[in-house]
Order: sequence, then C-alpha cells, then structure tokens
Amino acid sequence: MSTEAKLQELFSRSEELEALRGIGDGLAWDQEVMMPKKGGPLRARQISVLASLSHERLTDPALGELLQELSSDGELNEWDAASVRELKRQYDKGVRLPSDLVRELALTGSLAYEAWVEARQKSDFAAFAPHLEKMLQLKRRQAQCLRNGGTLYDALHDSYEPGMTSAQLDELFAVLRPRLSGLLGRIQESPNQPDRGLLQRPVAVDVQNDFGRSVLSAMGFDWQAGRLDVSPHPFCVGISPLDVRMTTRYSETQLGRAFFGMIHECGHGLYEQGLEAARFGQPVMSSVSLGVHESQSRLWENVIARSRAFWSHWLPKLAERAPNLSDVALDDWVHAVNLVEASYIRVEADEVTYGLHIILRYEIEKALVEGELEVEDLPEVWNDKMEEYLGIRPGNAAEGVLQDTHWSQGLVGYFPTYLLGNVYAAQLHAKAQQDLPDLEQQIATGRMRPLLDWLRQKIHRQGSLYRPVDLISRATGSAPDSKHLLDYLESKYAALYRL
Ligand code: ZN
Repeated sequence: MSTEAKLQELFSRSEELEALRGIGDGLAWDQEVMMPKKGGPLRARQISVLASLSHERLTDPALGELLQELSSDGELNEWDAASVRELKRQYDKGVRLPSDLVRELALTGSLAYEAWVEARQKSDFAAFAPHLEKMLQLKRRQAQCLRNGGTLYDALHDSYEPGMTSAQLDELFAVLRPRLSGLLGRIQESPNQPDRGLLQRPVAVDVQNDFGRSVLSAMGFDWQAGRLDVSPHPFCVGISPLDVRMTTRYSETQLGRAFFGMIHECGHGLYEQGLEAARFGQPVMSSVSLGVHESQSRLWENVIARSRAFWSHWLPKLAERAPNLSDVALDDWVHAVNLVEASYIRVEADEVTYGLHIILRYEIEKALVEGELEVEDLPEVWNDKMEEYLGIRPGNAAEGVLQDTHWSQGLVGYFPTYLLGNVYAAQLHAKAQQDLPDLEQQIATGRMRPLLDWLRQKIHRQGSLYRPVDLISRATGSAPDSKHLLDYLESKYAALYRL
C-alpha cells in the first residue's frame, strides 16, 4: 500500500472513531438537558455499549499495524505525522489496559459515584472511604500499565495534559503557592472591600439570558453552529465544530453565576468551533489538552469579562435591560465582580484563591497515588492544608474533602489542568496584548473579534499539531511560566483593593 493509501485508511478509521465520540457526546448532552427521568438506566446501557464499541475499534490490531508502519514513514508532512502520533498515543494507551481493568474501573466508578453523592449529602466520609480505597487501587494498577518511565502520578496526569510531568507541575506550583497566599492576605487586610450586594440585586432570568446571549454573539459564537440551554451543572461539548452545545443555570439573585458561567462555557465553545472543519475527523484536528481548553474559558471569563474595559462597554447595556442596576458606578461594579475571599468550595472560588484550592488537591492526590498518604487520614490532611493555605478550616466533610466528584469517578490527575488553564490564559493574554496593542480599547468598545481571531490562529486552528507545552511556547514565545499569572493577579488586585 502506498503512503497515501495508508493515510486514507487511517483517516477513514479515525473519522469513524470521531463519529462514535460525537454520538456519545450527543447522548450525554441529551441526558443532562432533555431526557425524561425514567430514561436513565437504559441510557447508561446505551452509553456503555457505545464506549465498548469505540474501545474495540480503537484497539483493532489492524489499526495497530497501520500506525506502526506510518510511524516509521519519513514522507509524512507535519500535520499527517501529528495525526499518526496522536492516534498512536490513544491506541497504545488502549491496548496497554487489560479489558478486565477497563470494566472494573467503569463499574467501580459508577458505584463510587453513587456512594459519593450520598456520602456528601450526609457529610459522611467513612461511608465513601472504602469506595475511594478501591478506586485508588485500580488507578494505581492503571498507572502501572500506562507508565512510561515517569512516576505513577505522571502516567495518570498524562491522559489529561499529554507530556506534562509532576516535576514540571511542582516547579510551576512552588512559585504560585506562597505568592497567592501572600496576595490573599494583603487583600483580606485591605479596608477597601467591595459591595457584595450589587450582584445579588434581582435580575429577571429572561433579561440575564438575553444579555448573556448578546455578549456571546459579540465574542463571536456562531449560533448556526451551536446552542445554549439550561442544565443543573453547566458544561460544553463539541459534537463537532459545527455543533457545539453549551449549558448554564439561572437564579434571579445570582446574576454573576449564570453570566460568568456562560462566558466560561463559551470560551470552551469557541475553541471547539475554531477547530478546522475541513480536517475534522483527522486525529490532529481535536483540542489538545484539558489545560489548553481551560485556558480558553478562563481567558474570556476572568481576564476579559472581569476587566474594567469590558464593563465600561457592557454595564450600561446591562443597566438598560435591568433598571435596578442603573445607579451602579462602574468601579463599584468591577470591584464587586472581582470579590476575593477565602471560602471552602472550589467551584465558587475567585481567581486569586482558586489556585490554592487546586494545589491542595494536587498535593493530596499525588501522595495518595504514590502511597504516601492513607485514605483514612485524608479528611485531617485536607483540613490542615486548607488552614495552612487559605486560613480557614472546614467544619464538615461536605465542605471539605467530599465536595468534588472527580475522585469517585476515577478522575485522578485531572485537577492540575484547571490551574494550568489559568497559567496559560494569563500568558496568552500577555502575548495578545503585545500583538494587538489596542486590545484594551477594542474590548472597551465591545469589539472582541480581534482577540478571537488571534486565538483562532495561535491555538484553535493548530488542533493537536503540537504537544500542549510546545503549543503554548510557540504561541507566546516562551515555555509555560506562572510569572504571567502572578503579574496579572498582583497588578489587577493591587488596583482594585488599593493595596
Ligand atoms: Zn471549564
């Protein structure tokens, strides 16, 4: 077979895998947004049939041979070589895991998730501990199968942020932790605290929806290739670049929650819509990592939509629709949407404390995987770290160690990608400011397309051509560095809190 024929065979197989993934995402979206309650158990079966079908197709020995031959073919251009590398990475992971382990992980995950829901409601860590213990045993086994020279934790983290090691994470986070704690301390001591009541003034749900959609349109979201719906847990899935589904949730007295949630999901959605449709289905044309994905949502949500420039344009537009905000001064509003406080719950944390929530989880899950921490000691260690980093001690397990679903579902090694998203976002923004000198003025006049075009070119259209670290390095001219995030946070909050 010629190289060309082999590539065609590879692409037709990857298009099929991509179609199966899209079907799964469609079913999952439907389950969250549309499905009647009784559909749950049979839907779980449909999704698991689809997952095993995908796994079967992915681990087909004929695909393995094809990938082997193409890997040593020196004639491929860089896009096709990246496609081969990407699919080979998935194939190698797929065949390294024995099918009994895959099944056991899925089964343990669904039982542990149910146990976690109940344990959290009752704030009863002891009821969840045996499930977590079992899950960690399986994750260690999985890590041993996948391990490729690095640590057990590296093997797990690699599934979410390919190529990044815990040594690199340690280096980034070691700089962040003391400076974030220091900044939090200075903010807490400042006499200039924002008026938190501003964001609790009631705004009708249809006004929030209408206003949010007009901002999303200005960001460049294509409504002919995407939707926004309501679900209890906001999320975004790209069924394809031409069919992107986002959700949010509304509360009349919590405008910020729906609004910034919408902007966040739209950041993810723009990345999905920005993948090149003509190459879609080729392994290279998919988002590159969770960290890079999160950088897109955080850049829009925090760096842009929480900036003074952004609100100088949008606050009057919001006040036109919500007259009870018409007396609010711009500076007071901007300060209120950037309220910083030490709190227990990660998903409600502001951008200063958020990193501390993640570093705590990272240190704990790494110690659990490497066998340096026992499950029974977990609540105490959690609370001690919380007290050390944020100065507060959870009163119960529900607002402490039991708050996140990730570990119950086997998502171990996932948390750092949230903080990497913030690190990358600040670095990308710093470079965008250099490349687009009037960026701030554009944002202040409601023009967000130039920034989107810049992201399209630097990130979205690159798909998985480069590894995440290389993608960020190429886009910004330097390797990922937490300096940009710290500079951004320290100067922004010094101005807001007059430090
Ligand atoms: Zn996100």
